[in-house]
Amino acid sequence: MNLIVQKYGGTSVADVSCIKRVARRVKRTWNQGTKVVVVVSARSGVTNDLISRANAIRKQPDDREMDMLMACGEQETISLLAMALHALSVPAVSMTGWQAGILTDGNHSRARIREITGGSIRKHLRKNKVVVLAGFQGLDDDGDLTTFGRGGSDLSAIAMAGALNAKTCQIFTDVDGVYSADPRTVPDARKIPAISYEEMLELASSGSKVMQTRAVEFAQKHNVVFEVRSTFSNKTGTTVKKKVKSLEDMLVSGVAIDNNQVRISVTDLPDRPGAAASVFKVMSETGVVVDMIVQNVARNGKANLTFTVPSEDAFRAEKALKEEFANGGGGKLGRSTKIAKISVVGVGMRSHSGVASKFFEALAEVGVNMLMISTSEIKISVAVNPDDGEMATRVAHAAFGLGK
Ligand code: ADP
Ligand code: ASP
Ligand code: MG
Repeated sequence: MNLIVQKYGGTSVADVSCIKRVARRVKRTWNQGTKVVVVVSARSGVTNDLISRANAIRKQPDDREMDMLMACGEQETISLLAMALHALSVPAVSMTGWQAGILTDGNHSRARIREITGGSIRKHLRKNKVVVLAGFQGLDDDGDLTTFGRGGSDLSAIAMAGALNAKTCQIFTDVDGVYSADPRTVPDARKIPAISYEEMLELASSGSKVMQTRAVEFAQKHNVVFEVRSTFSNKTGTTVKKKVKSLEDMLVSGVAIDNNQVRISVTDLPDRPGAAASVFKVMSETGVVVDMIVQNVARNGKANLTFTVPSEDAFRAEKALKEEFANGGGGKLGRSTKIAKISVVGVGMRSHSGVASKFFEALAEVGVNMLMISTSEIKISVAVNPDDGEMATRVAHAAFGLGK
């Protein structure tokens, strides 16, 4: 089938005039004789509003009810966009995730897609209708609504493009591609014409929210090529695919900042095998993903352990650890602090040395103190005080010559 999947994010559908603009764009594609599935997010701010209303009622709302609530945002947008398309004489039909047969596991607010049956999508497409699909949502085995984590409409689009074997998947957003750093933080950041899944994944998981991490993971696993481009211009965007030759020579291709992490410290951990394992077992049982980890050399039979978790999980993580320690698990919960994590990413690091020293020297020159360090094959991350985060990002970007 000659099919294009287009995804429009929150700012692209922020209000009625934006929704009309998207409808005109969709119509242009449909007029070329292509079948179109449009995946949309909630209008910008709507999901946050829904969450804050829930939190005003209860600090830890029930997971199932939370998904029921959060899924509302996307449902508003699909119907409005379908109406805007009707107003342009384009036959369109809105569909929820469950109507489209997006079946998931039962992990509320972080559900994984198990299968996409497509529901009646193919029937509508054969009748030449534009299908307007609610992003971010699916259905579990109990028939309950689930959501895919923040930014999860990206995943809906990529998974649907894979399931329907679409010719192209376009992620329309408020920037015209993937840049060497967030252009809002680093004004001289450069657009990257093409980037590998591998690097895009590291940038996304390090805080570049231009793409949801799990969406990139899915694309990599199922080899779904996609393009990130602007809703507000016609410029070519960034293609994300398996191999990108030109970037192999570059030491670093991008810098990311993650302002959404909390550093948790555990003191007085007994210096014996299994002590750290028990802490992380508690975290995994609580469903908290731990990122950077540092353990100090033990003194007097006691060690200190520091690790970072996403801010939204900090409360749950601390609560679970307090319970563990109260029940006799060795260790004490220390004070938690917010941090910013700056990461430099590039496949070129595999074959070059000196990246860490260049990065650390650049931070030292401007007096930024590093609180934690972690590395992988193609990434180096440091945790710094939140106040230093943006400056550290700009300095790292400049140190690797990434600016215009
Ligand atoms: P949408 O609502 O369309 O899903 P998002 O807000 O999730 O859009 O993502 C787009 C934003 O990602 C941009 O406005 C930009 O500030 C931010 N961003 C962060 N890192 C990058 C990067 N490396 N390149 C481009 N944009 C980035
Ligand atoms: N509306 C959801 C969010 O704000 C999903 C998305 O926009 O992709 O996270
Ligand atoms: Mg997004």
